[in-house]
Amino acid sequence: MDRYAVVGNPVSHSLSPEIHRAFAAKTGERLRYDKLLAPVDGFADSVGEFFERGGRGLNVTLPFKGEACRWVAEAQPAAARCGAVNTIALEDGKTLGFNTDGIGLVRDLEAQQVRISGRRLLLIGAGGAVSGVLDALIDANPASVHIANRTIAKAEALAERQGAAVAAASLDSLDGRFDLIINGTSAGLTGEGGLIAPELAAGAQCYDLLYSRDAQTPFCRWAKDAGAAWVSDGLGMLVEQAAAAFAIWRGCAPSTRDLLRSLRPGTPA
Ligand code: NDP
Repeated sequence: MDRYAVVGNPVSHSLSPEIHRAFAAKTGERLRYDKLLAPVDGFADSVGEFFERGGRGLNVTLPFKGEACRWVAEAQPAAARCGAVNTIALEDGKTLGFNTDGIGLVRDLEAQQVRISGRRLLLIGAGGAVSGVLDALIDANPASVHIANRTIAKAEALAERQGAAVAAASLDSLDGRFDLIINGTSAGLTGEGGLIAPELAAGAQCYDLLYSRDAQTPFCRWAKDAGAAWVSDGLGMLVEQAAAAFAIWRGCAPSTRDLLRSLRPGTPA
């Protein structure tokens, strides 16, 4: 049976096995999907051994997405541009690296009827996740894109990569009004939700890349309290990026909304 896994450290919390097993059951694909805990300094050895033992593909999570981009034999252009790989596929004996985070986010926003085109976008954070979703968001034609980050130099570097399309700011120097605010920081992992002035979230749509089973991430709670018009966590993005990886590996696209409803009862059809 073809073997797949998610590699990370830590990886015990990952929902990816549950998601991919559900996709396999739905599409009739026969595969095995496990968790692969790699030592922080042992990514190359762990994934090398996985493929030597017949593994067919990997999802890559924190903290290895950058290392995975350097490790694969060939990174697809979108992954090479953001320097982060979240999906590895073995094709004709060669490891190929992809990044499906951007398509995952855009598809989830579309599924939730959130428009990107013509809107003023604010991205908070400038790490691997924001770098990975930036191109897909810009391709959806927003009116403007700002990136705000605690370490402003990282926001500036990302803005520079995009040319005139993106402006950079620090978290406390943000000015203006935004229609859609996307939190791409990992601050929620330590319980922090309020990263910018609450006035900025009032009336805006707010999306957190971080997810939790009950959808109540610290950023989602903060945004609701600040008067946001709509809030969502990133569970839908997780499922959509997984579906895009599944399609790369198996050549068929699984239905995502059914699975999302089973992970979170009450999700609209
Ligand atoms: P990185 O470690 O690459 O980047 C972390 C970012 O968070 C940096 O911009 C960092 O700022 C900022 N940050 C961390 N702590 C704080 C804080 N206390 N206050 C302000 N800023 C802070 O992580 P990733 O970009 O890979 O991941 C970010 C988040 O996105 C994670 O929570 C991850 O779970 C989520 N994610 C979700 C996905 C999904 O499918 N739903 C897919 C991918 C990621 P600085 O530069 O100053 O250090």
